[in-house]
Amino acid sequence: MNGTNGATKKKVAVVGSGVAGLAASWHVAVNNQDGHQVQLFEAEDRLGGHAYTINVAGVDVDIGFMVFNNDNYPNMVRWFEALEVQQEESDMSLSVSLDHGKTVEWSSDGVNGLLAKRSQAVSPEFYSFVKDMIRFNEEARKLLQLPTDDPRRGVTIGQYLRDHNYTEAFCSYYLFPMVAAIWSSSIEDVLKFPAEPLISFFCNHKMLQTFDRPQWNTVSGRSKSYTLKLKELLGDKAKVSTPILSAKKQSDGKFELFTTGDASVGIFDEVIFACHPPTAAKILEGNQDDTVVTGQLVDSLSKIEYADNAVYIHSDPKLMPKRRRAWASWNCIGDSDLLSVHKMKAPKEAEAMEGGGSGFGNKMEKPTQNGFSNGHHQNGHSNGHSNGHHTNGHTANGHHANGHSQPQLEGKDGRMKAVYVTYWLNRLQNLETDKEIFVSLNPHEKPDPALTYRKEILAHPQFNAETMVARQTINEKYQGRNGLWFCGAWAGHGFHEDGCRSGFDVATRLTKTPLPWCTSNEDKAVMVIPEPDLSKATKMSGITAAVSRAYQTLTKTQFEAQRWLHRIVRGWVSMPFRKASHHRQSFRPMVLREGCLEYDLGLARSYMAGHFVVEPPSDPEMYDPAIYTKGDRNETTRAIGDPLGLLRFFLLVIANRDSAGATHIPRKSLKGQSYADAISNASGLIISRVGSLFNYLRYKIVMDNSERGGSLKNIHAHYDLSNDLFTTFLDKETLMYSSAIYDAVKAPAGRPGLVFRDSLEQAQWRKLDTLLARAQIERGQTVLDIGFGWGGLSIHAAKKYGCNVTGITLSVEQKALAEERVKKEGLGHLISFEVVDYRVFARRKENQGRFDRILCCEMIEAVGHDHLPEYFWAVEQLLNRDGILVMEAITTPEERYETYRHSTDFINTIIFPGGCCPSLHALVDAAYKSSALTLEHIDNIGLHYAKTLSDWRKRFNAQEKVVRRLGFDDIFLRVWNYYMVYCEAGFLTQTENCLILVFARSGCTALAPLSEARSVTQDVPLTDSEVENWLQDGV
Ligand SMILES: Cc1cc2nc3c(=O)[nH]c(=O)nc-3n(C[C@H](O)[C@H](O)[C@H](O)COP(=O)(O)OP(=O)(O)OC[C@H]3O[C@@H](n4cnc5c(N)ncnc54)[C@H](O)[C@@H]3O)c2cc1C
Repeated sequence: MNGTNGATKKKVAVVGSGVAGLAASWHVAVNNQDGHQVQLFEAEDRLGGHAYTINVAGVDVDIGFMVFNNDNYPNMVRWFEALEVQQEESDMSLSVSLDHGKTVEWSSDGVNGLLAKRSQAVSPEFYSFVKDMIRFNEEARKLLQLPTDDPRRGVTIGQYLRDHNYTEAFCSYYLFPMVAAIWSSSIEDVLKFPAEPLISFFCNHKMLQTFDRPQWNTVSGRSKSYTLKLKELLGDKAKVSTPILSAKKQSDGKFELFTTGDASVGIFDEVIFACHPPTAAKILEGNQDDTVVTGQLVDSLSKIEYADNAVYIHSDPKLMPKRRRAWASWNCIGDSDLLSVHKMKAPKEAEAMEGGGSGFGNKMEKPTQNGFSNGHHQNGHSNGHSNGHHTNGHTANGHHANGHSQPQLEGKDGRMKAVYVTYWLNRLQNLETDKEIFVSLNPHEKPDPALTYRKEILAHPQFNAETMVARQTINEKYQGRNGLWFCGAWAGHGFHEDGCRSGFDVATRLTKTPLPWCTSNEDKAVMVIPEPDLSKATKMSGITAAVSRAYQTLTKTQFEAQRWLHRIVRGWVSMPFRKASHHRQSFRPMVLREGCLEYDLGLARSYMAGHFVVEPPSDPEMYDPAIYTKGDRNETTRAIGDPLGLLRFFLLVIANRDSAGATHIPRKSLKGQSYADAISNASGLIISRVGSLFNYLRYKIVMDNSERGGSLKNIHAHYDLSNDLFTTFLDKETLMYSSAIYDAVKAPAGRPGLVFRDSLEQAQWRKLDTLLARAQIERGQTVLDIGFGWGGLSIHAAKKYGCNVTGITLSVEQKALAEERVKKEGLGHLISFEVVDYRVFARRKENQGRFDRILCCEMIEAVGHDHLPEYFWAVEQLLNRDGILVMEAITTPEERYETYRHSTDFINTIIFPGGCCPSLHALVDAAYKSSALTLEHIDNIGLHYAKTLSDWRKRFNAQEKVVRRLGFDDIFLRVWNYYMVYCEAGFLTQTENCLILVFARSGCTALAPLSEARSVTQDVPLTDSEVENWLQDGV
């Protein structure tokens, strides 16, 4: 029988009556003019699937589909117009509350909401989240502008965040909760989301406009007002309580469908599967052959994974943010520990994602023999097909679950490991009731039973790289083939418009009739959401721009205020203040003001500006021997004063600072209160703390160690100053810019530390040999030198052991000189250098597992605390199974690390921007969290570093003329003296340490000889006369 289009009238079955099934059925039933007949089968006793309205406490509420907007739901909105379904405004405010509001609590409801927890106004983490939120909203769209074949488009969101160095605060306070809330996913699954569709979704939904979001709406009278209209319209064309359990292919290619008890419900020319794809796979499973239902189709369908969500409808406010002013329509409630653990694990997951083999995919069980997934309840049917939403023991239509174990969804062990969402329906759906009505998905704790109305299970599609491939296979190879069609929200981003559009899409293709709102002269049958306008990629609008501007102004104001104060004070004290004290410090009181304002940095700035210098002591006897070594030679120059005086000054400051710990006795010069005391006391002033806090905030905002930009900029700021400058003070033979190892013995009684002999050159050769010995280096091995400096270590490894060395750096200047040196040595065939970030290098397939040894001499300080896990991840990628990492690292003692990490100092602000000397524990912890590497051996060479710095300083100052000829001025000379002396004082007092660390995977056989070395006990200290002889011998 032919219709008006000349088409044969077809019998069409639709399986499932969610929005996709309803849309497809409506189009076939109402719009086709060819007389096709449609029959809809629904497992539940109602139509609608996730369009699910229930009555609690006397009001109708939606517990699945709740909100939409006119821009992103073009087909659904037109359909609602055709059905005369009314809509009203909703509210899409969002809040995040971590650790019961202790860590963070904010909502998108203006400044009051943003600072719902008032102390956030002074929290650096909070500001870094706001800053990153603004950055993400500007930056993310750029991914969509990359060429389609650019590999960066294919990364996961976890990788994207790492690549762009988004802070933990941004991930935990914003992105993860938001994504987890929108897609009802665990954080693990969020990390595996492909970045491109996620960003495209954000862009499409105008979510990359921080505050200026589109108006969201909800269905007036709740979503039942449209499902009931369709029920009426479809009449007996829609059969409820009729689950389709299997399909049998007929010899003529048609399909016979069966429900409970193997009862046939009819034979159909075309079948539209609008149930979840794994259910479709199960229904089709028995028909597999090579022509109609191939194994690949069934396999692809079952790979479109769904995650069950436990949905509680309740009135218990304990599942809402703690502070009422933070209550929003969507409330993401979480646990920061779990969020950060997930972030730490990210590199490994990325490896699994991008490396292949080990695979991804979440932990949902695959369909079982007699049931589709153990996360689903059976609804009274013998072979237990899931329909994606069931009540706790009782389905909506009163069926009992038939013995399948209850899914373990809730709590921290369930799917929603770190964040759950509570919808505040009163606000979201304009409820007219005094009762608060909440819907919580997979909450960490159950609501009070007395306040709980109901519990349901609803499943939501999950997106990862595997499901994306499966989806493409279904669409490209199987859609409409042999009379089988597949639709549902899974075909898009998982939302109502996606379900609606995909239902319409298959129905318009099947009937060859466009939707009524798509005019015949358009070449599409279904409306598509217009592509986002990427030309606005870098423009900020509305409040976003205002917030960003306000933030910048605040920082600028702080600078201005300081400058202003400086001017006033200078007016008062214009005369240089000079006091003949026993220190004979040439001193201006300005230094006190700077110290008060910014402490460490203030002092440095004062010295740089020439506000004070320290002159040599008139009477060395007056000094505590701990800070004055007899026989120190006078190194005073006009520009810098006496560097040794400066050293003593630092030793005093450190000693006084440490005296606050009560275990140390404060050290002073023998003559009473010194200026050093005054300065160190000033650090205790509130004003100095505020100044330090501002410096820290500024540092957190300005510094970044990202692979694109930040690290490169930081390295450039120090190492690319000028090769000629560094050669003024480094030893000419090795050009090593790191601690040497001198021949040393314990100092005689009454003197602290060690006494040294050897020239700097000899000591640097010893250091190179020590590093290679610790690496158990063998002839011909493949070695990676991360941060190779001017090539000293690489050249030594190639020359002495014939190793094949690859060096990577971010310093163009260093590479140029290092390559010259390699050429001079004739080692070009063994050594190659490259300017590349370690993360980029590690991601290259050809480098994975390539190296026998990795050497990394004082480069870890440039990595940054937040990036340590990435560093170890990268090393592990690069090392082969029996590989060894030898690292020389400047470290901060544990007891000071947390304070250090949350503050700034002269070094990481002025000398090595963005630098961070990690603690030993931070290193080991990062290695443990993101790799299988363990710490095998430690040498502490901190005191040798003090001696190295002293040698460098002497050489540097002896070359003052050369340095000036290179274009450096008084200020520069003071900065570098201050830097070297500051570090020398740090190493002398062990406020800083320098460690040689050996890492390997457990069971590394190459390490055996080192184990023996470790058991060697230390020599008995020499007597005073033996020390004298030893020193004489060395001369
Ligand atoms: C808690 C929650 C809130 C949400 N809120 C929103 C929102 O506000 N806005 C939005 O756009 N999206 C929202 N969504 C997403 C929502 O899931 C989709 O919008 C959409 O409703 C899914 O439609 P669907 O047709 O693909 O699947 P479903 O609605 O799941 O429909 C599948 C249907 O197939 C039936 N079925 C299953 N097996 C069989 C069988 N063997 N035989 C016959 N019938 C069968 C099921 O009973 C069901 O009715 C939300 C989701 C959840 C879980």
